[in-house]
Amino acid sequence: MDKNIISTLMTILGKENVLTSKEDMITYSFDATADMPSEKPDVVVTPDNKEQIIEIVKLANEKKIPIITRGSGTNLSGGTIPINKGIVLSMLKLNKILEIDAENMTASVEPGLIIQKLNDAIAPYGLIYPPDPGTVTTATMGGSVSECSGGLRGLKYGVTKDYVMGLEVIMANGDIIRTGGKTVKNVSGYDLTKLFTGAEGTLGIITQIIVKLIPAPQYRRSMLAIFDNLDKAGKTIAEIISNKVIPATLEIMDNVTIRTVENYAKIGLPTDAEAVLILEVDGAIEQVVLQEFETVKKICKENGAVDIKLAQSDAERDSIFAARRAALPALAQVKPTTVLEDATVPRSKIPEMLKALKEIAEKYDLQIGTFGHAGDGNLHPTILTDESNKEEMERVHKAVDEIFKVALELGGTLSGEHGIGIAKAKFMEWEFGKEGVAVMKKIKDALDPDSILNPGKIFRGN
Ligand SMILES: Cc1cc2nc3c(=O)[nH]c(=O)nc-3n(C[C@H](O)[C@H](O)[C@H](O)COP(=O)(O)OP(=O)(O)OC[C@H]3O[C@@H](n4cnc5c(N)ncnc54)[C@H](O)[C@@H]3O)c2cc1C
Repeated sequence: MDKNIISTLMTILGKENVLTSKEDMITYSFDATADMPSEKPDVVVTPDNKEQIIEIVKLANEKKIPIITRGSGTNLSGGTIPINKGIVLSMLKLNKILEIDAENMTASVEPGLIIQKLNDAIAPYGLIYPPDPGTVTTATMGGSVSECSGGLRGLKYGVTKDYVMGLEVIMANGDIIRTGGKTVKNVSGYDLTKLFTGAEGTLGIITQIIVKLIPAPQYRRSMLAIFDNLDKAGKTIAEIISNKVIPATLEIMDNVTIRTVENYAKIGLPTDAEAVLILEVDGAIEQVVLQEFETVKKICKENGAVDIKLAQSDAERDSIFAARRAALPALAQVKPTTVLEDATVPRSKIPEMLKALKEIAEKYDLQIGTFGHAGDGNLHPTILTDESNKEEMERVHKAVDEIFKVALELGGTLSGEHGIGIAKAKFMEWEFGKEGVAVMKKIKDALDPDSILNPGKIFRGN
């Protein structure tokens, strides 16, 4: 990159907020996604106010330099890899809670705020912010809005887009706009809030977020149901929902995942079980919660659960949930490369998807651990492999193609919560057709004609 650009950035931000060392460039050349192309940025900048960001964007727009906006880099689709080099724009210093409006049950935050910090701040008001990715203690609000993250409570409470009420966004030409607001009803004009939510930093840079909060549920009951057969666990999930009980959490771990988590965390999981379900029902009325809990228990038993462990205390509940949150870190210890997918199907199709995953693992002779938010149809088949083994990687790529093909055939989608990034860009036409992708590209071209905002993500070749 031209030295004059670096010195202009230093004038805008101060020398200490412009990183250029080789070590820093390597650090920002990857994110949490495995098996991705790696490229180093030209420079990393760490602004602490939006005026600086506007100046950076105007400079990048004039010089046609890519800007890769970055939160904590925990995304799982290669979304922050600077594949066309350019400026990595770290949002971590814009991390304030600007307002907690308990009366209207909203909060206004800066994008670099860690999600859990919002939850800690609103807890005294008896409120929660439901989106709950496994990385709730590390991921930023801006990153999770831009990926439209889901998490462990998606089944009952929905995903991030269900809670974003308004945004402030810096556009590719440096203009700043506001979308939505604090009103529950707001149907003025096009819904730009939804457009920028899940846009993966390709349409604008989010500098403020207004989110909806909800009352914290007063009562909850949690359990671990153990199955000697994966199919029975899959059927249990479909049956719970068709019985009109919507648990807050309905997670699955298969045998590969159970054994790996137990080996990693030693929390007493049944390593001979074919599958476990982690279930939690919650609500404002104790009797309803207890009634739903009994229904769930009964359905688990009727479908052949060999054992059901009820959490008797908050500590026991937390240990069950810790097991689930340990799934990916535990699987990641087994082999050098962990290819985690995000295929999502209608929940009634979970048994079929689980069966297909088993068949794909056998067909390509791969070790696949499956866990995920099964209640909302969002499974995370995780292939344990080694990037340096070229022959095995070919089989991995074929298996991944097949996983997405099956998910789409079952009426599902490429991504339940991890976004498209680079990882799934090649599959977009499978889900949306040429015409659907063309409409999305027209939106991108209109808002970012020179493709300076996170180029190469969501679509191929932009
Ligand atoms: C162990 C593990 C568990 C996970 N569990 C879950 C889970 O349960 N559910 C789930 O949904 N995800 C999960 N994830 C994925 C990831 O944590 C989420 O996508 C997270 O919300 C990303 O936040 P981040 O701050 O790390 O964003 P980053 O990875 O830094 O960025 C994500 C995307 O947002 C863009 N972006 C970031 N900030 C802005 C901004 N201010 N304006 C515009 N664009 C921006 C980036 O360019 C990029 O495209 C998990 C990841 C790991 C590693």
